[in-house]
Amino acid sequence: MLIDNHNRKINYLRLAVTDRCNLRCNYCMPAEGINFAKNDKLFTIDELYTLSKIMVEQGIDKIRITGGEPFVRKDLMVLLRKMAVLDGLKDISITTNATLIGPYIDELKELGITNINVSMDAINKETFDTITRRKEYETVYQNLIRLISEGFNVRINFIVLDGQNTQDILPILEAMKKYDVSVRFLEEMPFNGGSKNFDTIKWDYKNIFKHIAGAYSNIEKLESPRTSTSINYKIRGHKGTFGLIPSFSRTFCGTCNRLRISATGDVITCLYGKPSMNLREVLRNENAEENIKLHILKAIGSRAKTGFEAQKNHSSVFDSSMTSIGG
Ligand code: SAM
Ligand code: SF4
Repeated sequence: MLIDNHNRKINYLRLAVTDRCNLRCNYCMPAEGINFAKNDKLFTIDELYTLSKIMVEQGIDKIRITGGEPFVRKDLMVLLRKMAVLDGLKDISITTNATLIGPYIDELKELGITNINVSMDAINKETFDTITRRKEYETVYQNLIRLISEGFNVRINFIVLDGQNTQDILPILEAMKKYDVSVRFLEEMPFNGGSKNFDTIKWDYKNIFKHIAGAYSNIEKLESPRTSTSINYKIRGHKGTFGLIPSFSRTFCGTCNRLRISATGDVITCLYGKPSMNLREVLRNENAEENIKLHILKAIGSRAKTGFEAQKNHSSVFDSSMTSIGG
């Protein structure tokens, strides 16, 4: 079992399988993209599997596959097939932009991989295209509805962006009200590859709630798991739920159970901190298993208590992009 230096049990790994993406969401990276890692700096599928296995042996029982866009990796299903039968791994989930998932939906279901987070920051096509800087709205919407209709446990991630998509908050709730889906509104974080920096946000979780509560009088707060990052609600008459994720306000650090490994092997113990170490060469050298375990124990043993504490190691400007970190 992995316990950090603040007595938090770490059982959840967010594993980025690539830093590449076919969209260019403006809150995630600049229009021209970022300096993507060279191929040999990215883990191979075999390495990702070995790493997952080692992590599961150390006590990780939930792995979220993220990126970049996981499905730009043509060999992703090879990894997922192997992970689906990994002893001790109870939950595999995926965060995706849903542009490329279509051909894999049937097999994902067969493998029992049914927890899918779909990023969709607008219900209006023009707004969506402007934010993502591509024209994939129809595909994303169709795949989203197909996933929901086929019984996947789908959560929509909607980053609330001042001046860009706040007019879509209520319409997306209305559009989704007949579906069993959770629409989660996230605060924007300053990880966009350096395209903009900010110290405060207008649309924090309290303001997002006020905005929604102004339109619906029948909102009920739901019980959430202790380690959940979202505060969850139900609007009477809506089939699904909605959630607020204070990713900038950071109210959930006390119960943080997660660890991140980037597509190039950086170990990230807090989104707001710097990587603690890199595992790529460790995994490629002798005694990989033993050494990885030692490195992970070291990283877990020196975690910042909160995102604010982790941020102190940064200058005021964050230049990383979420496409490298994995969200
Ligand atoms: N490409 C996939 C997707 O978009 O779902 C997975 C990778 S993406 C980096 C993971 C999550 O990070 C997405 O839900 C995305 O919306 C979120 N994200 C990216 N940049 C963000 C930012 N600056 N602030 C908050 N969330 C962000
Ligand atoms: Fe790509 Fe996801 Fe970043 Fe959008 S948020 S650019 S889909 S990695």
